Amino acid sequence: MYQCDGCGVSIVRKALRYQVSIDVRAAYDTLEVSLWDLVRDHRGELEALVGALDETDATHLEEQVYKKMVLDLCPECQRKFVQSPLRFGAESATGGPPADIDTFLRSLGYGKRGE
Ligand SMILES: [Zn+2]
Repeated sequence: MYQCDGCGVSIVRKALRYQVSIDVRAAYDTLEVSLWDLVRDHRGELEALVGALDETDATHLEEQVYKKMVLDLCPECQRKFVQSPLRFGAESATGGPPADIDTFLRSLGYGKRGE
């Protein structure tokens, strides 16, 4: 038995369901490295960076770089998702309060942090 991550309806085994895989990754342009970048002393910058990373929650840090989500959808939600992927969560919440993507992701088990 699966549960639709869009509307919450139960999807029995062997019934048609759709799986959505979402990879969210940070995109960087190619770095341009000059001779000066190669010869100067980076120690101070690296120490500051390592210090900042030590104070940042590891999960939060990972999510800034890469995040993979897998959703199970019923046929109705698959149709809505394909039509409007970026507004999918908001459309599923019609009639209720405005969609909160953070709450939505937490309900799926993503983004859990010790608070
Ligand atoms: Zn659904």
